[in-house]
Amino acid sequence: MSDFLALAQAGVQQLSPYVPGKPVDELARELDIDPATIVKLASNENPLGASPKALAAIREALAELTRYPDGNGFALKQRLAECCGVQPNQVTLGNGSNDILELVARAYLAPGLNAVFSEHAFAVYPIVTQAVGARAKVTPAKDWGHDLSAMLAAIDADTRVVFIANPNNPTGTWFSAEALDEFLQDVPGHVLVVLDEAYIEYAEGGDLPDGLDYLAAYPNLLVSRTFSKAYGLAALRVGYGLSSPVIADVLNRVRQPFNVNSLALAAACAALDDAEYLAESRRLNEAGMQQLQAGLRELGLGWIESKGNFLAVDLAREAAPVFQGLLREGVIVRPVANYGMPNHLRVTIGLPAENARFLEALSKVLARG
Ligand SMILES: *Cc1c(COP(=O)(O)O)cnc(C)c1O
Repeated sequence: MSDFLALAQAGVQQLSPYVPGKPVDELARELDIDPATIVKLASNENPLGASPKALAAIREALAELTRYPDGNGFALKQRLAECCGVQPNQVTLGNGSNDILELVARAYLAPGLNAVFSEHAFAVYPIVTQAVGARAKVTPAKDWGHDLSAMLAAIDADTRVVFIANPNNPTGTWFSAEALDEFLQDVPGHVLVVLDEAYIEYAEGGDLPDGLDYLAAYPNLLVSRTFSKAYGLAALRVGYGLSSPVIADVLNRVRQPFNVNSLALAAACAALDDAEYLAESRRLNEAGMQQLQAGLRELGLGWIESKGNFLAVDLAREAAPVFQGLLREGVIVRPVANYGMPNHLRVTIGLPAENARFLEALSKVLARG
């Protein structure tokens, strides 16, 4: 019989699939408890629930469920172009921003070529790179964050893509406008810089650069963003890339014809109009960040400073047993050993009561030794 693992493309044979946060229903089955009693702080989801405006738009769009979605996403591209100060032909819509990362890899990477990214960076970068048979050049992190100088030094003639996340997941680390300026100036023009801003809405107003400010000057820049995090629409799968029109044209050639569904298109448009929801998401996140840090301090634990809606907690010991202990308490967080962080657990900032549940459960589990 043929060995269909050995027959897979070399990069795919080496791949480890993405490990998502444990679903609530799965834990409820395992513990035989009511799913409503479980707290999930494992996937950086927005604890607010979706925007009422988005929900209303979805209800309206349901009437057209028998039709294909608008394959060009006309309305959403228009809205995004207005919001972001670009032209509609600079927008690429994706089935989550994950899709955008994949389109970049499919269009620009191949065997013999490589992508540069950092240690402890988002797990999708190695997956999309290896999936197309390209090589991943992983640079060591500096204080858990991206070492942009090391990344520059890693670029060679075969590099086509550099993935940088600001802030990064799962570390929450970020780089300044000054650092990004210098980096973009020094990256060779043949290298596409993917600036992943999945959490930028949480970080606005701080010392983080806004990737959009660089688009005009850098035709080799693509900024990716998502409706999954601060906009609270993770289940719908909708994200976008902003770039020069040439790059958008190339990505459009390799995407699935109807990669964003009609409910997602409608909800995303409505979500962009709900400034109140976004402000409330941010406020809740800031308060929750304070609450978690105060609780961790009391427990004598450290963490990595974060600009996202999550915190990588330093347990100063192997985190896996603590993760298991938390599960038994009905609290799901995210182990990050697969990110080279065996002593950390990543916890998403939840509602005040959820954060309290997590802290209480953590205290209990740690007390058991
Ligand atoms: C969550 C996340 C994404 C993308 O999520 P989508 O749901 O696919 O839009 C991209 N990058 C980072 C760093 C993330 O954490």
